[in-house]
Amino acid sequence: MRMKYLQDKQYNVISLDDFYHHKQEQNFPDDAVVITIDDGFYSTLKVANDVLAKYNLPSTLYLTSYYCDKDCPIFMLAAQYMFYKSNNNADLSALNIQGVTGGISDENLNNIIKHGSKFKTEEERIDLLKALAELLNIDYFALNSERLLNLIKFEEIDQLVNKGMDIQLHTHRHTFPENEDAAIEEIEKNRAKIDPYLPKTQTHFCYPSGVWSENHWPVFEKTGVKTATTCEPRLIYYDTPNYSLDRILDGSNLAQIEYEAEVSGFVEFIRKLRGK
Ligand SMILES: [Zn+2]
Repeated sequence: MRMKYLQDKQYNVISLDDFYHHKQEQNFPDDAVVITIDDGFYSTLKVANDVLAKYNLPSTLYLTSYYCDKDCPIFMLAAQYMFYKSNNNADLSALNIQGVTGGISDENLNNIIKHGSKFKTEEERIDLLKALAELLNIDYFALNSERLLNLIKFEEIDQLVNKGMDIQLHTHRHTFPENEDAAIEEIEKNRAKIDPYLPKTQTHFCYPSGVWSENHWPVFEKTGVKTATTCEPRLIYYDTPNYSLDRILDGSNLAQIEYEAEVSGFVEFIRKLRGK
């Protein structure tokens, strides 16, 4: 429905590279839109890839790479999902995790996530998820095979590229440390992992979880990154800094009329009035 709307209303959907060149030259086409997708969940391949191809719309996926060769759901999301889905209020003390006692509670979920995040290997986290799934009466194997919370695999990248999707940087571990060397390592490792599957080197970046700071900008100069995208809800102007490109976040929480109001610029107009 969203993509059809862009086509029906004759928005100029352009690639991120074209956007960058137009911005440098200060000659955006009328009603220009760039479509970007974060993370690389399996649904990007299963659903978005065909829809975008059907309407012949260019898009960019910011792909975080750690989970692309793990064949398991993202640990934190899987733990949250199980807590949310379970109707089996089992005693979780059986997991033998400090601070975890009794049944489903926010505190237990947080302690389990904290505990699992400290593991050195993903295998340990998978074992923890399996134990948790058993206690909460969730089918871990079904969850993993449906790939609801899994990322695409490296070998699947070409299916996206072949249909016109551009793949760019989103860090390796979905974290962007304040420390410069650690931040550079996150970009370089992300790039090293995905570059072998891509036709050209990656020069666009998206801040994980939308957390950004100007302190990071020297990191981009050093790693050959030309643009960085935030989750600040605003349209982009010629004077918007290339390292804090704003975005309208679309999702199932946004009604079609809200989406249309955002894309048309009406909400931007309201935001400006409010700002004044
Ligand atoms: Zn992300």
